[in-house]
Amino acid sequence: TADALSRIGLAGLAVMGQNLALNIAEKGFPISVYNRTTSKVDETVDRADREGHLPLFGQYNPKDFVLSIQRPRSVIILVKAGAPVDQTIAGLSQYMEPGDTIIDGGNEWYENTERRISDASSKGLLYLGMGVSGGEDGARHGPSLMPGGSHRAYLNIKDILEKVAAQVEDGPCVTYIGEGGSGNFVKMIHNGIEYGDMQLISEAYDVLKNAGGLSNSELADIFADWNRGELESFLIEITADIFQVKDFESGHGELVDKILDKTGMKGTGKWTVQQAAELSIAAPTIAASLDSRYLSGLKDEREAAAEIFKGQGFKEEINNVGVVDKKRLIDDVRQALYASKICSYAQGMNLLRAKSVEKGWNLNLGELARIWKGGCIIRAVFLDRIKKAYQRNPALANLLVDPEFAREMVQRQAAWRRVVGLAIQKGISVPGMSASLQYFDTYRRARLPANLVQAQRDYFGAHTYERIDRPGSYHTEWSKLA
Ligand code: NAP
Repeated sequence: TADALSRIGLAGLAVMGQNLALNIAEKGFPISVYNRTTSKVDETVDRADREGHLPLFGQYNPKDFVLSIQRPRSVIILVKAGAPVDQTIAGLSQYMEPGDTIIDGGNEWYENTERRISDASSKGLLYLGMGVSGGEDGARHGPSLMPGGSHRAYLNIKDILEKVAAQVEDGPCVTYIGEGGSGNFVKMIHNGIEYGDMQLISEAYDVLKNAGGLSNSELADIFADWNRGELESFLIEITADIFQVKDFESGHGELVDKILDKTGMKGTGKWTVQQAAELSIAAPTIAASLDSRYLSGLKDEREAAAEIFKGQGFKEEINNVGVVDKKRLIDDVRQALYASKICSYAQGMNLLRAKSVEKGWNLNLGELARIWKGGCIIRAVFLDRIKKAYQRNPALANLLVDPEFAREMVQRQAAWRRVVGLAIQKGISVPGMSASLQYFDTYRRARLPANLVQAQRDYFGAHTYERIDRPGSYHTEWSKLA
């Protein structure tokens, strides 16, 4: 039925677009697809045929593409973020009519979305910036979707998004996020939290391998075991898989040991840390994860430094701090990982709240935790606990002081301190776990040495200070009194 109009359109048929288009078609919504390089249109049409004669229709120019969609039109764009999005919008919007909607599903900087919302509205077009998480597989079989912008535009495609998203026991992993660029902002924070989770898992691996002497096959078993408990999550699950994969290239050992230790990145983690600084919100675990990626990139410098310190009698890992009880170490690391993760999520949620207040987005933190329970990279059983914490108290100042999380932190702190302490003694870097522990120790203390910093500021800069026992601001001529 090539003449019938499609319910929706999708432009940009690389990994994400192709799979999301097939997902939408599979859920029974006829879809038109378009890509600048038209061979990808043919490729997608072929896949739609192979994967069950899905109602997906290829279009080969922007005009035919737009006109093949029923009004009011909804067009999803999944191209490289930045200028390609502007170019794609320019090409399509000339054929779109007032009331039609553009939906950018890329990892876009939220301010670009806000600029495009106002450009679109001057032409009577509606706009959504929709975070999509879950990679290739999520896009094809059920991603977590974070649409923000025009609420009317959201209502036009709510039925589609709810069918296409991952499904968990308390509903589809999609909700209207809020106005403006909120959908992209929430996706960015999701990615920042993802950086934290990956760093913490890699530190757990480092401690178990280099302090505990565990083999890859033991690590595979431990992570598989952890994935049956409170740490159950996609990232723990894939980590268990990774340790099992043999290196077919060389024919011996596991592939993980042959991978160069330099982490790549595409920018969302950096944006998260920049936003944390702008908002004056402490996010040390996420910042430590970003810094670790930067340091990992200095492979040559690290190799040179290792040589220099070896010459000073410094072994890479100092194995003289006593024999480690493997069983206890494994259990301690599990607890340290969980407690560190809570701190990282607390930071991410506080970033979201601060931005929500600044922008008037009215974000529902419990609902965001819910839509991350399925589909996305940080999906985890533990997110249900975060959802419930914010349901119990939407004004919760910090996840750490939710009564349940507070109890969990207290139960785990001894093990957590043992792991961080052992790593420090052995010279194994654990920037994420220790940043989390420092965050906890700073946040839970009623009195900090900030009094001394205030005294110094007043001493050299007459910045004044407040007193603990009476109101007002004070200045002291410190040098005359000392
Ligand atoms: P991508 O590699 O980011 O982009 C490739 C697509 O962009 C192709 O369709 C390409 O068209 C198009 N494109 C590039 N420049 C263009 C231009 N100037 N005009 C028109 N089209 C242009 O694709 P992706 O990996 O599928 O990602 C799409 C978006 O989703 C990105 O924002 C990405 O960050 C985000 N995302 C990706 C993942 C993932 O796992 N890959 C997960 C979540 C979100 P041609 O074929 O003509 O070159």
